[in-house]
Amino acid sequence: MKIFIQFDRQFEFFLTKKKISRGFEFFLDRNASVKDIIESFGVPHTEIGNLYFNHQKIDFSFIPGTHGILDVHGITPPFNVQLSSNLRPKPFNTIKFIADVNVIRLGKLMILLGFDVDLSSSNSDNMIAQIAKSQSRIVLTRDTALLKRNKIVYARRIRANMPWEQLVETITFFGLEGMISFFSRCTACNIKLAEVEKKEVLHLLEPKTKRYFHTFFQCPQCKKVFWKGSHYDNICQKISSIGISINH
Ligand SMILES: [Zn+2]
Repeated sequence: MKIFIQFDRQFEFFLTKKKISRGFEFFLDRNASVKDIIESFGVPHTEIGNLYFNHQKIDFSFIPGTHGILDVHGITPPFNVQLSSNLRPKPFNTIKFIADVNVIRLGKLMILLGFDVDLSSSNSDNMIAQIAKSQSRIVLTRDTALLKRNKIVYARRIRANMPWEQLVETITFFGLEGMISFFSRCTACNIKLAEVEKKEVLHLLEPKTKRYFHTFFQCPQCKKVFWKGSHYDNICQKISSIGISINH
């Protein structure tokens, strides 16, 4: 049967301009879900906001049984993963991420801003999908094929090349600016820091740090000590310079 498929402009990242502007017709000779059909053109399901077949709203499992028009719409940011939708009826209760090894620096920056990010660089694609499902984590990656897996519900195929740009892209896409809690998590362990008494960590500090700083935080796991020194100020400046506002 003949299907006419029309993607909206948001899919220019995945498809040629010609395909986007005019739509295109193809012959479907098998029983396939719309998820499979769309992904066969290189667009992962995680990038889709709404689907219509002959102007009726459908979900990913819909199998076209007649000729028709398939309309594919992208996601309009900010994308709230805590709200249910036609395509994703079971939203997440919390905002947590898992970053693929190809966006590891983005993952570290997200942790720096206080977000819970699973960063294990040894995860296989299969493990990433499994963790995303079992722990309700949003997948961040530059691997389009990974996002075709059924277990992955919420994700962002990161477009930007540089980590700081990727950070802006992620914060903007998921509308996270109000949830930033800068300097609250250990970037090595992804664990929340705890405030500690200066006397408890005195033996770990350099003389100048002892003299000039009075508030300290410690990672409960790796025991690394943090304070708001020049490194902290430099990162604050960098974050402000890319247009992200943080409370500190
Ligand atoms: Zn740590």
